[in-house]
Amino acid sequence: MAKCEVCGNDYYLAFEIITAGNKHVFDCFECAIHKLAPVCKVCGCKVIGHGVEAKATFYCCAHCARKDGVEGVDDHVWGKERETLENKKLK
Ligand SMILES: [Zn+2]
Ligand SMILES: [Zn+2]
Repeated sequence: MAKCEVCGNDYYLAFEIITAGNKHVFDCFECAIHKLAPVCKVCGCKVIGHGVEAKATFYCCAHCARKDGVEGVDDHVWGKERETLENKKLK
């Protein structure tokens, strides 16, 4: 049995996560995210996917990173090409 360090729940399915050598105990992913997930600098949401890390800062997506002046990141590399194709189809 181990106690969740966020909510204090003593749960038999609690699990450990080690980040940068520090051991954490949680009873669920929600608590783990609450404690460990980086926060997007631009919109403030928790980054629980890959996100974007640039200039030692975390962003939830390329859009937020670009808003903050990061260059060269894109969630949809295919987007521009697709837009062009769809525009052609419409005509
Ligand atoms: Zn918890
Ligand atoms: Zn964001």
